[in-house]
Amino acid sequence: MIDLSEIPVAKPAKGSAGKTGTWRVLRPVIRYDKCTRCRLCIMYCVENTIDQEPNLYPKIDYDYCKGCGVCAQVCPTKAIAMVPEVK
Ligand code: SF4
Ligand code: SF4
Repeated sequence: MIDLSEIPVAKPAKGSAGKTGTWRVLRPVIRYDKCTRCRLCIMYCVENTIDQEPNLYPKIDYDYCKGCGVCAQVCPTKAIAMVPEVK
């Protein structure tokens, strides 16, 4: 199995407007009871803000997630719900 942490992909960083996660209006929330650890959300996240925990479950970095919903769309078990962001 490929260790995704070893793939050289740039991580998002604080920009001139601050942490880009503040733009988000919808928040992806992972239901771990439905997650099969397939890692598709990690591979498809357009911002590379989903990391793989040592237990192989995905973890979203909300400092930089923009709430695009791609992860929820590709999740085969519908384990990711997009919920309104509470500011
Ligand atoms: S909502 Fe978009 S930016 Fe946020 S974790 Fe999912 S794919 Fe990545
Ligand atoms: S795509 Fe869905 S099932 Fe696969 S690791 Fe992500 S949350 Fe879990």
